[in-house]
Amino acid sequence: MDNLKPIGQGQARKFLVKQRIEITLEMRETVVMRYGDLILSAFCPHCQLDVAMATPLSAASLLRTGERDIFRMIESNSIHYVENELVLVCMRSLDALRNAVSQ
Ligand SMILES: [Zn+2]
Repeated sequence: MDNLKPIGQGQARKFLVKQRIEITLEMRETVVMRYGDLILSAFCPHCQLDVAMATPLSAASLLRTGERDIFRMIESNSIHYVENELVLVCMRSLDALRNAVSQ
């Protein structure tokens, strides 16, 4: 009864109930990959590891940016990439760049 405090006077007293309600909001992020997006495992000569590699379009989808921005990062050597039949960007270097930008 510690949390009940009378309001007003007389017989018809009302009680104010103090109650603490905690609401936890959980944010979830959904990344929607478009048809044709491609992420695969391939050797990155810079990392000297098998890493996740993505097409510039897939990388752009993940970063919510344009494919052109990904090509700018490739041209400025900001991210690792390999070029065979496809241009593939190293998700490890992309993640490192993203973390550096967000700090
Ligand atoms: Zn790499």
